[in-house]
Amino acid sequence: MGLLSFKGGIHPPHAKKSSEKKAVEVAVKPDVVTIPLRQHIGAPCEPLVQKGDQVKVGQKIGEPGGFVSAPVHASVSGTVKEVKDMFGMGLCVVIESDGLDEVHESVKPSKDFTELDSKEILNIIKEAGIVGMGGAGFPTHVKLSPPPEKKIDTIILNGAECEPYLTADHRLMLEDPEEIVYGLRAMMKSLDVKEAYIGIEDNKPDAIETMKNVCSKYEGIHVVGLHTKYPQGAEKQLIYACTKREVPSGGLPMDAGVVVNNVATSAAVSTAIKTGMPSIERICTITGKGVKEPKNLKIKVGTSLQSIIDQCGGFADSVGKIILGGPMMGMAISDTEMPSTKTTSGILIFSEEEAKLPEAGPCIKCGKCVSICPAFLEPLYISAYSQKENFEMTEKYHALDCIECGSCSFICPSKRPLLHSIRVAKQQVQKMKRKAK
Ligand code: SF4
Ligand code: SF4
Repeated sequence: MGLLSFKGGIHPPHAKKSSEKKAVEVAVKPDVVTIPLRQHIGAPCEPLVQKGDQVKVGQKIGEPGGFVSAPVHASVSGTVKEVKDMFGMGLCVVIESDGLDEVHESVKPSKDFTELDSKEILNIIKEAGIVGMGGAGFPTHVKLSPPPEKKIDTIILNGAECEPYLTADHRLMLEDPEEIVYGLRAMMKSLDVKEAYIGIEDNKPDAIETMKNVCSKYEGIHVVGLHTKYPQGAEKQLIYACTKREVPSGGLPMDAGVVVNNVATSAAVSTAIKTGMPSIERICTITGKGVKEPKNLKIKVGTSLQSIIDQCGGFADSVGKIILGGPMMGMAISDTEMPSTKTTSGILIFSEEEAKLPEAGPCIKCGKCVSICPAFLEPLYISAYSQKENFEMTEKYHALDCIECGSCSFICPSKRPLLHSIRVAKQQVQKMKRKAK
């Protein structure tokens, strides 16, 4: 199969060189972890512990607040010091580690997935609190429970890692390919699906080869090389590239018969089945010119970002901006005492030089934002109407179909803040819709 792709998209500099060859290192054990009870899309968890309680590694400390939710677990053993609102992240459980890493009795390996039925696999994934580790944080058990009228026949694993700078998934595919494929096969059994694709951008030829070697043993799993183009890893674009199926406007992957998961999510499924250990750690890329020694680190959920940055030699001379996730879709933060979560795929530390924002000029109607928009929108008009607060018109221009990839802002020669104004429009349109209901 040749290289696959989608319509539209951009080619930002990859900026992956400083960390792509760095093998994953296990981070130093944290003395304290701060574990948010909401690390996912959906309802926050209710705390199951209180100040003074002793907890062990893998112990459930947050009960899901609804079906679209996911439990959270202790990532260290020790004493609960506080349960309170912190960092604007809602309720968090602060645990002081006793350094013993005592594992909770509930953490037990299960039978091989081939001996489990669909419901048992789904239940392990649900109880392990596994969520989309590419950054979205959507609970995985919900994705694997489509309504009966939606027939799923394909699973796609996202190994594109199309955001510049990030290399955590790349390293995972090189260092733990068997775990990714085991998790995928378990999810295929859970959904009774016979076809799967693992999509990887062609700037990672070693990962494509490694995954192909592992998958050659299994029928129905295809490793496909994708053109390196942003946002290749966005769900709709990935589905189109792998299957040529289109997700309808306002629809979900299941409307195209597909479930999409990240490769790290799949590896977490494998860990949960083979060891019983829930989602309490992940690989994270720490990079950018503002950090002395870029690395890929395996970090415990709840570790403070500052202590992770310190393990990378600390800040370089000038720091302009810190972003959680990738530079295109990530979130700028100002407090490095914030904890890492299940979705912390990257910590980007930009130097002042890298972070400099050019001044926005007037729209020159060049049409570039239209020609590259992977969702086939007209960003210039949505943005213009949003700035005039005419949100009815932004809806007419399908603002809600924007996948917030940021490609339009990147390509705009006038450096207009298109994504920002489109995000505002989306929020306002959603508000109008809720009111109308
Ligand atoms: S309008 Fe939305 S989907 Fe289109 S390029 Fe801009 S951010 Fe991406
Ligand atoms: S890319 Fe920028 S300048 Fe060109 S049409 Fe779009 S908003 Fe206007």
